Amino acid sequence: MSGAPGRLVLLGHPVGHSLSPAMQNAALRAAGIPLRYELMDIAPRRLEDAVLQLRRERAAGNVTIPHKEAMVALCDRLTGPAIATGAVNTFWTAVDGALVGDNTDVDGFDASARALVGRTAGRDVLLLGAGGGAAAVLVALKRWGVARISVYARTEPRARALIARTGAVATVIDDPTPVLPDITLLINATPIGLRDDPLPADPAALRRDCAVFDLVYRAGETALVRAARARGLSTADGLGMLVEQGALAFERWFGVAPDRDAMWSALPERR
Ligand code: NAP
Repeated sequence: MSGAPGRLVLLGHPVGHSLSPAMQNAALRAAGIPLRYELMDIAPRRLEDAVLQLRRERAAGNVTIPHKEAMVALCDRLTGPAIATGAVNTFWTAVDGALVGDNTDVDGFDASARALVGRTAGRDVLLLGAGGGAAAVLVALKRWGVARISVYARTEPRARALIARTGAVATVIDDPTPVLPDITLLINATPIGLRDDPLPADPAALRRDCAVFDLVYRAGETALVRAARARGLSTADGLGMLVEQGALAFERWFGVAPDRDAMWSALPERR
C-alpha cells in the first residue's frame, strides 16, 4: 500500500480533456481527504525529470497517453497487471520509498464487463484494437474461461505483438466481418466513436445474445452503443470502466474504497 501521498496528479500529454480530476476530487471530498487531484501536462522528453520530482514529493497518481508504457521503466516495483500489460496507469510511493506502478485498467475492465455479461465462461469474444486498452482487456479475459478470442487490428503486427506480450490464447484475424454472426461479446478498444466516426463493426450482423462493450465514452454515448441497444443488445460504454479503474487507484493510494456514487455524479450525463 501507499504511504500517505504528498500530492496526487494525472501525468499525460495532453490531459486537459480528462474526466479524472472531477471524478477523483469528488471522491477526495466525500472521504474528507484534504488533497486535490491535479493535472500535470508533461511532454515525453520531460517525463523522467517530472517523475524524479514526484518521488521527492512522495506523490501518487495516474498516468495516461502517451506515458503509460514509458512509466514502466521509471518505477522501482510493478504489480502483476502492470507487468502483464507492459503499461502503468496508477502509481504511488510505498512506505519504503519505492515507486510502485500498477495497471487498474485490467480490474476496471474486468468488473464493468462482468457486470455487463454475467456468465463469462464459454464466451466467444471479438476484440477490436491492439493498444493499451486492448492489453488490459486481454489480461482480464485470461481469467474468464472464454471459448475463443479473436483480435482484429488495422496494424496486424501490433495485434500479434500484443498477444505474445500478454500470453493470451487468441487468434489474429484480418477481417472481422466473417466472425460477427458467431461472437457473444464484441469489445471495441479503438478510439472509433470518440468523434462522429463510422461504427467499428456493424451491430446488425450480431446475434441477439451478443453483448457489446465499448471502451470509448463520450457525452451522448457512442454510435456503437446506441446502434447495438437499438437492436435490443446488452451494451456498456467505457464510463463504468473509467469509474472502476479510478476507484481501484483510489484504494491503492488511501487503503479505503472511495464513494463510487460521488465519482459517478461528477461525470457528464450519459444521454
Ligand atoms: P492506443 O494505445 O492508441 O491504441 C488504439 C488502437 O486502436 C490501436 O490498435 C490503433 O491502431 C487502433 N485505431 C486507432 N484509430 C483507429 C481507426 N481509425 N480505425 C481502426 N483502428 C484504429 O489507445 P488505447 O489507450 O488502447 O485507447 C483506445 C480507446 O479506448 C480510446 O478511446 C481510449 O479513450 C479508450 N480507453 C478507455 C478506457 C476506459 O477506462 N474506459 C481505458 C483505456 C482506453 P494502430 O496501431 O494502427 O494505430
